[in-house]
Amino acid sequence: MPEIQKCQLQSAKDPALSCGVTTLGDLICPHCSSIIVTPDFIFLKPDAKCCPSCHKAFVLDPDTAKIANRFHASFLLGVLK
Ligand SMILES: [Zn+2]
Repeated sequence: MPEIQKCQLQSAKDPALSCGVTTLGDLICPHCSSIIVTPDFIFLKPDAKCCPSCHKAFVLDPDTAKIANRFHASFLLGVLK
């Protein structure tokens, strides 16, 4: 199953930066503002992730994951209709 690369946070002392989310359910890197496309039919789980552009760690918190999954599902439903 393809999924966004997992990433260990550098240390517990690092501020846990939360990512943003687009209306398509894609994630936005809090470090470099890259949009990280969520693969189709992938259910995002709250976790530490790694940005493919700047390779810095960020956190997908449960609330953001919920929002991203909802946006992503409605985008897919719109596409599949
Ligand atoms: Zn980044």
